[in-house]
Amino acid sequence: MSYDTNNIFAKILRHEIPNATVYEDDFVLAFKDINPKAKIHVLVIPKGSYVDLQDLIEHGTPAEIDGFFKGILATVSTLQLANGYRLVFNTGKDSGQEVPHLHAHILAGEKLCSHQL
Ligand code: AMP
Repeated sequence: MSYDTNNIFAKILRHEIPNATVYEDDFVLAFKDINPKAKIHVLVIPKGSYVDLQDLIEHGTPAEIDGFFKGILATVSTLQLANGYRLVFNTGKDSGQEVPHLHAHILAGEKLCSHQL
């Protein structure tokens, strides 16, 4: 999958459409999922243009890679998820990945069932 600069998360990063931000730093933006699959459902995206994890690891700088994973944990910390959380990366067609910009789903806030997302 090649990077499409018109994908919805690229538009969010360019401030062309609004988002409900929960955390932001130099490397990531974290915001509430518009169609939550759990009581807490937050997406964490890198600020760089990467389609999926493989793209980030192969083409990102060490600072971007480090910053992405640290940004996920900083978001988890901001959300204060004392009872735990689920982290999901949908990747490619079979996973149902809809948006071709790397994103981590953080699901939490309730007892999650095995098929949630
Ligand atoms: P995926 O299926 O892994 O690509 O997940 C894409 C996610 O993006 C879905 O859970 C959507 O509900 C969510 N989503 C799509 N558009 C927006 C938006 N404008 N703001 C927040 N979340 C969105």
